[in-house]
Amino acid sequence: MKDCIFCKIIAGEIPSAKVYEDEEMIVFKDIEPKAKIHLLCVPKDHFALLTEMDEKRAALVARMLRKIADKHAEWGLADGYRLVVNQGENAGQTVHHLHIHVLGGQTLPWD
Ligand code: 5GP
Ligand code: ZN
Repeated sequence: MKDCIFCKIIAGEIPSAKVYEDEEMIVFKDIEPKAKIHLLCVPKDHFALLTEMDEKRAALVARMLRKIADKHAEWGLADGYRLVVNQGENAGQTVHHLHIHVLGGQTLPWD
């Protein structure tokens, strides 16, 4: 989608530190990491909110979770990690293209 920063990263128009890519998702390092390891898992299909998921998108999000589970140790997250999906204004969602934050590499604060 035009003017979407993650669509531009997917299209290769903006560089990113990619750790994984296939035909339906991309995983890259967050530009402003909030933990020692901070990755963003992003579907190539542009949609912003979980409420926009039909069955096809729900299956895609499930495959994203499966991929994170399969790859987490390779990404340095064998000791544990946290997934965050910000939804809407109160959550502070700034990029309106669905993404799963993958945080770890340290003990994570919970407050
Ligand atoms: P949100 O607040 O929408 O859940 O998270 C958006 C995330 O995208 C933020 O953590 C922010 O640092 C990250 N981000 C925004 N622009 C870019 C960019 O151009 N490149 C990368 N790698 N991350 C970005
Ligand atoms: Zn997009």
